Amino acid sequence: MKGVEDMATLVGKSRILAIRDRLGVKPGQLYIDGQWRDGGEGRYDQIHPATNEVVTSFAEAGRSGVDAAVAAARRAFDEGPWPHLAARERKRILQPIVEAIYAAEEEIAHLQTLDNGMPISFSLSGRVSGRVAADMFDHYAGWIDKITGETFPQYSGATNMHYMTFREAVGVVAAITPWNGPVMTFAMKVAPALACGNVVVLKPSELAGLAIARLADILAQSDLPPGVFNLVTGGPATGEALSTHTGVDKVSFTGSPVVGEKIMSTAGRNMKRLTLELGGKSAALVFPDTRDVRTAARNLMGLCSTFLSGQVCSTPTRALVHRSILDEFVHYAQEQVQEVKFGDPFDPATTSAPIISKRQLERVLSYVAIGQEEGARLVFGGDQPGGDLAGGNWVSPALFVDVDNRMRIAQEEIFGPILCVIPFEEESDAIHMANDSDYGLSGGIYTTDLSRAFRVAKAMRTGSVGINGYSVMPNSPAGGIKRSGLGREGGWATIEEFTEIKTVMLNLDA
Ligand code: NAD
Repeated sequence: MKGVEDMATLVGKSRILAIRDRLGVKPGQLYIDGQWRDGGEGRYDQIHPATNEVVTSFAEAGRSGVDAAVAAARRAFDEGPWPHLAARERKRILQPIVEAIYAAEEEIAHLQTLDNGMPISFSLSGRVSGRVAADMFDHYAGWIDKITGETFPQYSGATNMHYMTFREAVGVVAAITPWNGPVMTFAMKVAPALACGNVVVLKPSELAGLAIARLADILAQSDLPPGVFNLVTGGPATGEALSTHTGVDKVSFTGSPVVGEKIMSTAGRNMKRLTLELGGKSAALVFPDTRDVRTAARNLMGLCSTFLSGQVCSTPTRALVHRSILDEFVHYAQEQVQEVKFGDPFDPATTSAPIISKRQLERVLSYVAIGQEEGARLVFGGDQPGGDLAGGNWVSPALFVDVDNRMRIAQEEIFGPILCVIPFEEESDAIHMANDSDYGLSGGIYTTDLSRAFRVAKAMRTGSVGINGYSVMPNSPAGGIKRSGLGREGGWATIEEFTEIKTVMLNLDA
């Protein structure tokens, strides 16, 4: 394989900071009760993963900031107009937000790349772009006048009652988002929550707050009443203060399973509603009747090696490949990785992101060692480029073969550019191995046999499955089972997550 240094454009240290200055980035504040304000409990730095330079600082909201935000949200929900606004009025407030996000999409994309090193080409037009965030607000603004209940036929003649249900807002929503798709995860939570009449306190990842601060400013400039949307920045302590707050009715969390489990274990205190979008160790099954092994191999290696370099929850990091096409698969995976281009994340030619933090880089490298200790064979990658890239958290995409599905590298979420290739002979073995996982987020099937495609898709224990490709849309649900989470985001499924059903009965004889 060609050395990663050869393929890299140089990362000019000052380039990141020059773009920051061009975008007019200011130190972050909290947004509470309709006001941008300082405060909280100290400040922390946000570091760029491509160079490890400090980009800016944010306020750590801490318990006091969270208390203030939840109090404002409680007032807005318990005493304010938002939950009771007529559908047309709520739509009238959300629609200009859609237009404002569309208008700012390029700036939002640049801020997202400044946040987490996502290559600008993906940030501008990929599935986590500002445009998709605007689409998400547009989609949910469209639901507002269609959130209906049901009526029921009389069950017996004992009473003469008319039964009906209403869908009502859940209340104060704590939205907690990860670093990897800040723009998309913001929109996936805030848009449906507001559409249903909830109020929101959002905490972005401490690793990626800039694009979300810009989106929050769009909401600040809208006609949302004070307290309906609030932003608290900070790390795990602030997240914990928010997710355990008894003034919160629901937590909508996207992040790691470890934190998701903590949130679930404390939510019982006041019976908080939960949506948990957690990690994955998804499998893609490549059958010998796939249209073209090259496409399958390039797709799967590409998902691990480009965009966020495998730091995406739904990435299939286990390639279950029929033994008869194994060598061909590895050959084309190697071909794909030659096209990986590290370097300046704002260069449209850059294909791949650095690892988000030094700590996570250590974790990824530790799994490269673990895989070899377990007896898997590293075909390529797993090393750190030097030269101009040495200051950042770069690691070259790695491919393991001779992997046993019970090995740690095949069972644990690594969150980095490592693809494990596991051979199979029979369809039933492939299904068994795909399901032999603590996780169940996404999955893939490569075949031209339609019956096989549906048979295997139905047998896979996951929240979603892509047949010969995978993509998410604002109007279709995604989410996980087992350790991958609870609930669904996208389309009507999210309306259900953000509403409570109230049954009202009327005695027709009274
Ligand atoms: P993370 O769990 O470390 O952090 C996520 C958020 O939780 C951050 O805002 C963080 O500050 C906050 N947090 C940390 N400790 C907390 C606590 N005790 N209580 C409340 N909040 C706390 O995850 P991450 O590194 O930002 O993101 C990567 C993880 O997210 C991966 O596991 C990935 O698979 C998952 N993810 C899942 C989806 C999905 O849709 N299923 C999407 C993106 C990312």
